[in-house]
Amino acid sequence: MIPVTKPYLPSREKLDKYIDGIYGRNWLTNNGPLVQELTRRLEEYLGVENLLLVSNGTLALQIAYRALEINEPVNGRSAEAITTPFTFVATSSSLKWEGIEPVFADIGSDTWCLDPNNIKPAITSQTKAIIPVHVFGNACDVEAIEGIANENNLKVIYDAAHAFGVQYKGESLLKWGDAATLSFHATKVFHTIEGGAIVFKRKKDFEKAKLLISFGITGAETIEGIGINAKMNEFQAAMGLCCLDEIESILSSRLRIIEQYKEKLDGLVTFPVWKPQTSQNGAYQPILLDSQETCVEVISNLTKQKIFSRRYFSPSLDELEEISIEHISQTSRDISKRILCLPLYSELSNSDVELICSIIQITLNTKGNL
Ligand SMILES: *Cc1c(COP(=O)(O)O)cnc(C)c1O
Repeated sequence: MIPVTKPYLPSREKLDKYIDGIYGRNWLTNNGPLVQELTRRLEEYLGVENLLLVSNGTLALQIAYRALEINEPVNGRSAEAITTPFTFVATSSSLKWEGIEPVFADIGSDTWCLDPNNIKPAITSQTKAIIPVHVFGNACDVEAIEGIANENNLKVIYDAAHAFGVQYKGESLLKWGDAATLSFHATKVFHTIEGGAIVFKRKKDFEKAKLLISFGITGAETIEGIGINAKMNEFQAAMGLCCLDEIESILSSRLRIIEQYKEKLDGLVTFPVWKPQTSQNGAYQPILLDSQETCVEVISNLTKQKIFSRRYFSPSLDELEEISIEHISQTSRDISKRILCLPLYSELSNSDVELICSIIQITLNTKGNL
């Protein structure tokens, strides 16, 4: 059996050492020493400041919306945020959960990220923010988005859940936007079992968010405003510290696998067009097929060999009634019907990748000959 993904498990010995420390201190949560150490080490590794660890990537988004006040109504009606329909459901559902109306703008047909040309027509008097996603770790057109945001006085929060460690023009991609959020879910490139982080551009927003994740408590008997509980705990941080020690080898094995996929499938399937000067982190291996039928056929032939792929992201979120049906995004709908994410995790062997590629090759060639 080859699953589509497999959580990375670091050395048990090393994890045990951290856990012994937690037992010794009996300090399990509330900004403990391991959370503090992980914060420092992540800021250093990623090359960013104002990084706040939180309990998961969805709360990272919600806290960012609140810290930047985009959840506050405009003229007595819900604020709107322009976002992409080609993403994991949490990008949009987190907006809804905070009372913000997601307004979809379509993606670019080659990068699969929010197309800046589609943002402007979606702006209304209610619009407060743009929430783009660096989908599959590919950088959005950050310059154009910044220009539009500045012209229209909008906040930008990047859902960077796929973009851990991605560099753009030699610097962390997370530096773009008023904030960028990360997910450290078990299936992500770097994980803390469940977890996430927000990287803020400004210290004052970081300080505000720090209160929000801990009930708004400012002192023993003082509370400022309404907060929530979104704290990371010490066990999560211990897992993160272990994974961070091994991050170079995690990334290099993932990059080796995506290189192998690329070599074997080049010319047969379509890959996203990467933004120039953007590094890769091997978070996902998406391929685009020529039609929905081909996609279904490939899935079926892989499944017969107990190889599991995933139609990620499908459906396009503008097709979900619960979210929004007002703004139809044709490109996102088209791509979501033909996209497939192939197995990708650091232990995936060369021969497994070879097998997966040969099944895809046979499926596509047989089709062509009919
Ligand atoms: C994983 C993911 C999230 C949610 O993160 P959790 O840590 O699972 O809450 C949000 N957005 C995107 C694009 C994701 O891939």
